[in-house]
Amino acid sequence: MYQAPRGTIDILPEEQAYWRYIEDKAAAISQRYGYRRIDTPVFEDTGLFIRGVGEATDIVQKEMYTFEDRGGNKLTLRPEGTAPVCRAYLEHGMQNLSQPVKLFYICSLYRYERPQAGRYREFRQFGCEAIGEIDPALDAEVIDMAWQFFVLLGMDQLHLKINSIGCKNCRPAYLDRLKGYYAQCQPQLCPDCRNRLGRNPLRLLDCKNTSCQQIAASAPKSYEHLCPECAAHFERLQKDISLLGLPFEIDSCLVRGLDYYTRTVFEIQPEAEGSQSALGGGGRYDDLIEELGGKPTPGIGFASGIERIITNLEKQNIPIPPLPAPVVYIASIGEAAREVATKLAGDLRRQGINLIQAQGVKSLKAQLRQANSLGASQTVILGEEEIKTRSVQLRDMSTSKQQTVDWDRLVDILK
Ligand code: AMP
Repeated sequence: MYQAPRGTIDILPEEQAYWRYIEDKAAAISQRYGYRRIDTPVFEDTGLFIRGVGEATDIVQKEMYTFEDRGGNKLTLRPEGTAPVCRAYLEHGMQNLSQPVKLFYICSLYRYERPQAGRYREFRQFGCEAIGEIDPALDAEVIDMAWQFFVLLGMDQLHLKINSIGCKNCRPAYLDRLKGYYAQCQPQLCPDCRNRLGRNPLRLLDCKNTSCQQIAASAPKSYEHLCPECAAHFERLQKDISLLGLPFEIDSCLVRGLDYYTRTVFEIQPEAEGSQSALGGGGRYDDLIEELGGKPTPGIGFASGIERIITNLEKQNIPIPPLPAPVVYIASIGEAAREVATKLAGDLRRQGINLIQAQGVKSLKAQLRQANSLGASQTVILGEEEIKTRSVQLRDMSTSKQQTVDWDRLVDILK
């Protein structure tokens, strides 16, 4: 027997209410903050992610699903949503629109990671990108939108962490300091960190290994080594977040895993932390558009994992509105009645009534049992007697009371 590939999940009908709920709230919050939906292809040129996400990142080094198609093109299943949206921004001349251009997406992503609770190889994100504006007021607005999204979902115990990792002017000097600091502690580092030190020293700060975390706690802090422009930007950001009434913590170890981030980075976590606790996060990417071949254009975005949101909604016992169940079931006894039931079912559905018709030869009792288990509130029953009188028995499934209804009144009554 085949099974779903490791790290992937089936989203079964009984779980769909969560997905509908979250997608509806994502669309609602996007509209509230002026974002419009964009959908990009599931696969892109591999080069887009190598350039965009960065050669030294875990994603590019070991997590991409890359393949060559029959035409010899090197393609990759998208591991993240920002680079494709920036590619589309450039490809469709969105620089010529009023800036910032605000876009949101809901899509599946692919990363060859070690599957564990809250970590999959295929997962889905709601994300948003605001491209073309450097003002820290926009950073605060994006963070506010992310926060209000979780509030709209019914979550109230949230924790916001922010940091600034500087820009291409001030970061090189900071990275030198960081490398200098870590060079002294090299023997105490985990093998991964020792490996990363030359390639991607920022990532040492968010290693999950306990002894590495202790070392990171005393490491030089990026926000203490910002150039005057970045420092002013970070200050304004904090002021605006406070104006919006969001509590936050500055976390010097928050760096995030993708190379394109500049200045602002942030994460929102549920108050009760676990190892895979980030509900969502994001940051600025002021060099990404230029890296992809466009004019220098700043941007900022946010993304949140939908599977992880569902786990948290379940944990916090947040009630989800159920999806509408079929309201009407049509049962029939005998072939002549089945034919009338088929025609009636067609008519009722064409009038907009959600309905299930009994199929296969079943006793009336078995049909009523099925109506019950499907959650129908009314069952239409047709037998020989009803055909003669051009009527049906309409059974209220909660009270089991039945009434005789003429065919031509049935639609009105059911509606
Ligand atoms: P990232 O794209 O890595 O910045 O992650 C943004 C959000 O996506 C995280 O906070 C998680 O909610 C979610 N996420 C990232 N990686 C995974 C994964 N492998 N499985 C499930 N959710 C993920």
